[in-house]
Amino acid sequence: MTMPPPLLVFTDLDGTLLSHTSYRWDAATQALDILRDIGAALVIASSKSAPEIIEIRAQLGWTNCPAIIENGAGILPPESTDTPKTETYVRLRRALDSLPANLRDPFCGFGDMTVAQIAQITGLSHSGAANAAERAFSEPGIWSGSAQLRAAFIDALHDHDIHAREGGRFLTLSYGRTKADQMAALTDAFAPRHTLALGDAPNDIEMLQAADFGVIVANPHRDPLPPMPGEDTGRITRTALAGPAGWNTAVLDMIARLNLNEGATKHG
Ligand SMILES: [Mg+2]
Repeated sequence: MTMPPPLLVFTDLDGTLLSHTSYRWDAATQALDILRDIGAALVIASSKSAPEIIEIRAQLGWTNCPAIIENGAGILPPESTDTPKTETYVRLRRALDSLPANLRDPFCGFGDMTVAQIAQITGLSHSGAANAAERAFSEPGIWSGSAQLRAAFIDALHDHDIHAREGGRFLTLSYGRTKADQMAALTDAFAPRHTLALGDAPNDIEMLQAADFGVIVANPHRDPLPPMPGEDTGRITRTALAGPAGWNTAVLDMIARLNLNEGATKHG
């Protein structure tokens, strides 16, 4: 039985807690240590699949917390070291295969590709692609048909309660849950005093808006996010530094702003 945490942190990984270029997070070590000291909880919220999150969560030392995976389509429970065994992905693939051929054929999902093909289209290494291929809740894929057929494809999936989300080059199919939906359920479960969300990209906006406080982490490798409601009042802030260095400063500032570090062990 644990006490409600004083702070529940939801964080994106790439370009936020992890450096966009090196995938390292050393620059955020101080803030991560202090979060542990004050009894905060840290929930990773990422588009990555379970095997990738399992590895990073263990390296970060936050296996005691659940993680939001596959862009909000599902949850990786605390301490779990296996991809969740669910019927969701099987059901999704079955619904996809039940569509008429003229709608089904132009969609090539990860489940239709070899690991080598996934590596080629994503630019991931072979092992990275193998991890990305291990789906539990959602199916990314490439649409190669006309825009008109794609609209009919998306309509046909709606009859199966499946939603299609456009993101970069992929059309991702899922039963419609977002990072923000999972966040709401976890916030209810943890009942923290405050929530804080950090992200760098358009798919983080819902999460930043849903938290008590949101931090837009600078990512010089992409266009800055447009001005957001809450920036004028200080509920949403932007970091000057990119990636983990910006994350570190923002979390330390928030801990000070909320007076959460009283009695915590000093880090020198
Ligand atoms: Mg990101």
